[in-house]
Amino acid sequence: MTVIAIDGPAASGKGTLARRLARHFDYAYLDTGGLYRAVALEAHRTDGDAIKAAQNVGKLDLADPEIKSESTGGMASKISALPQVRAALLDFQRDFAAHPPGDKAGAVLDGRDIGTVVCPDADVKIFITASVETRAKRRFLEEFGPKGTDTDYQAILTELIQPDERDMTRQNSPLKPATNAHLLDTTNSDIEAVFEQALKLISDEMTPT
Ligand code: C5P
Repeated sequence: MTVIAIDGPAASGKGTLARRLARHFDYAYLDTGGLYRAVALEAHRTDGDAIKAAQNVGKLDLADPEIKSESTGGMASKISALPQVRAALLDFQRDFAAHPPGDKAGAVLDGRDIGTVVCPDADVKIFITASVETRAKRRFLEEFGPKGTDTDYQAILTELIQPDERDMTRQNSPLKPATNAHLLDTTNSDIEAVFEQALKLISDEMTPT
């Protein structure tokens, strides 16, 4: 079983890279941020109990369009600091990596703590980052296209900074590169260049020396 771990802050391009790699190698793909988002949304819509929602993550609808909203992302970043929520989601993520659905020969997981906590023995670990302005600009173009205003951009910038700060400073599984992760700074690269760089890293790492 091959496991590729991709970590990084919001809008760093980790999801796009992870999906591309999974398609390229025909591996299963898990967006672990989507799990935290689904849990936050479920708690918000019901009794506010995020721990209970996390314990039932297998039953949640991961395709709910509201999962992707900026406000769900903000809630996810708050509930993800709860140790009981993280513990409940750990088994789900590890099980996915050990037994990828569809009998695939490998799995790509993206998140904040895949290389450090969820899959510390992953075959390849990539920590992807970009300046906060670049990440805000990418998200701004994605959401507003050419019609966006400077106020929209500033709002996105603020919305990115807060969860980043929370993710990096929390006690439990903070966002940080694993000691043996490859760092990829995408501030000045497009997805094509990042994908090629990642393929090279993976092939170098997997080639027996
Ligand atoms: O990646 P995404 O922005 O969808 O993640 C939403 C939130 O979920 C993050 O801000 C982070 O707090 C949390 N998360 C996490 N650990 C992961 C993935 C996401 O704490 N492995």
